[in-house]
Amino acid sequence: MANESFSRKDFLKKVSLFGMVAAGSSAVLTACGGGASTDTGTSEPAAQEPAAAADPCEDLTGLADSDKQMRTTLAYVKEGEDPAKRCDNCQLYVAPAEGSSCGGCTLFKGPVHPQGYCNSWVAKMS
Ligand code: SF4
Repeated sequence: MANESFSRKDFLKKVSLFGMVAAGSSAVLTACGGGASTDTGTSEPAAQEPAAAADPCEDLTGLADSDKQMRTTLAYVKEGEDPAKRCDNCQLYVAPAEGSSCGGCTLFKGPVHPQGYCNSWVAKMS
């Protein structure tokens, strides 16, 4: 019986020790960022798309992925390297609506910089 009592006591000590080790490990993991997330969802997202308001000609809000992909496929850039080849002197350019600085393109949806360029540029016929 004494031996059994000792075993129970020994068992309780080990359980207590294990509990302290587990709690300490959890604290270390949490401090290192490896523990379970304690994020309550109230913080700001880490990464967001660039603010569209900064440049209205970069605002692709509401465009389908296929429209966005077309811009990439045509290698559209907001400012071309050759000043003689710009969207605003391209046959496919759509002039900006009144009050807007961004035009459009007949090849894809969304705003286009007047000084932009893509690999489908074609000289505007006069
Ligand atoms: Fe600009 Fe290319 Fe469209 Fe011409 S075809 S307006 S260069 S995006």
